[in-house]
Amino acid sequence: MKRCHNVLRMIGMCTTGHWFGIQREKAAKPSDNTTRALPKIRNTVAAILRHFQQLNYAKPVCARVQQRAVVYYGHYPVAGRERERVVQVAENVYQVAPDVYCVRLALPFALSSVNGYLLRGDAGWTILDTGLHWPEGAAGWHAAFAALNIRPANIQQIVLTHFHPDHYGMAGWLQQWGQSAGTGYTPPVRMAPREAELARMVWDLPEDQPEPMTAFFLAWGVPEDLTLEMSRGVAHLRRMTQPHPTLTHLEPGTTLPIGNRQFLAIQTPGHSDGHLAFYDAEDRLLLCGDHLLMKITPHVGTWPESEPDPLGRYLASLRQLARLDVRLALPGHGAFILDWRGRLAELEAHHAVRLAHMLKAAGSGATAFEVCARVFDFSRLTPHEIRFAIAETISHLELLVYREQLQRDSSGLTPRYVTV
Ligand SMILES: [Zn+2]
Repeated sequence: MKRCHNVLRMIGMCTTGHWFGIQREKAAKPSDNTTRALPKIRNTVAAILRHFQQLNYAKPVCARVQQRAVVYYGHYPVAGRERERVVQVAENVYQVAPDVYCVRLALPFALSSVNGYLLRGDAGWTILDTGLHWPEGAAGWHAAFAALNIRPANIQQIVLTHFHPDHYGMAGWLQQWGQSAGTGYTPPVRMAPREAELARMVWDLPEDQPEPMTAFFLAWGVPEDLTLEMSRGVAHLRRMTQPHPTLTHLEPGTTLPIGNRQFLAIQTPGHSDGHLAFYDAEDRLLLCGDHLLMKITPHVGTWPESEPDPLGRYLASLRQLARLDVRLALPGHGAFILDWRGRLAELEAHHAVRLAHMLKAAGSGATAFEVCARVFDFSRLTPHEIRFAIAETISHLELLVYREQLQRDSSGLTPRYVTV
């Protein structure tokens, strides 16, 4: 019964929750039905097959902590060809590899949780990604520390894949918690230089400065009332990133000891400019942040602070990552990734379909906001979700301009995209 339930749940997630939890598109026009339905059907069948391949009777690995339950599958699939094992050790904590734990931390969004990770080593524990700073997020860490018997003095370092608030938000709070051991040691918070710069620009904005998001969205044709509502949401998020940590730069290409493993920091742009993934070649394990997610498509948007063409850089990065030999990828949200190259190919195919939709929606001329409103059903989205939908639309339209399939006409107040 439980397996049936999980399979059904997976089908539901594949067909309805796809794009940062906000992919609720308008019903396709009759002429679009075939092209739009086929990828969905293919994805659904692939997901069912993948799920059945993954079902396995996993035995618990030798955990040095009290095990609450042996196996949890469904949201976190267990076992692939190499019999991956996941052991639930607390309500929100899963051992996913020797000395590697995933901590599920609640988020107040449609995307309801983020994965933080704890890696144990002889020199102490490393925290990778921290969650949004709000009471339920902090409670998630307290539960994990209690389950794994971690005290402030045990925190060696905090490592961040990128600056988004659901990953950066509790870094300062956790750094202070590590400091509270009273040993005089402050755990460093390591982050790519570009991400440190973005965190400062976006989250450490002085109170008297205007919200950059407001002018940005107005310029792309978003109505003023919606823009103001979206800006209020960003200000609210900003409060959930405090206190800010003291940051230590981590250059891409560095080999960083995390736990007792050696991880190569790989620059993986797109979701954010300086996003880092961490690769343990010996165990073929990748901590991939939000660069790849299993059941939803990572958001790739253009924001006021973004470098040009994030989607072009994202797709190029996916192609480079196909060279990596990955046994298990641990993402920033949701289920773990076992079929690395299969998922890379799915994401590339998804964006090809999305680009075709955007090209068609631009038609004989439209603003980014108009294209967005043609592709998404705004009546079903919150302002927070619409914000992501618009940023994602701009990144697709701009890539089509780079590819010379669209022209951007910037002669008026608001840029308009026209088919070439
Ligand atoms: Zn995230």
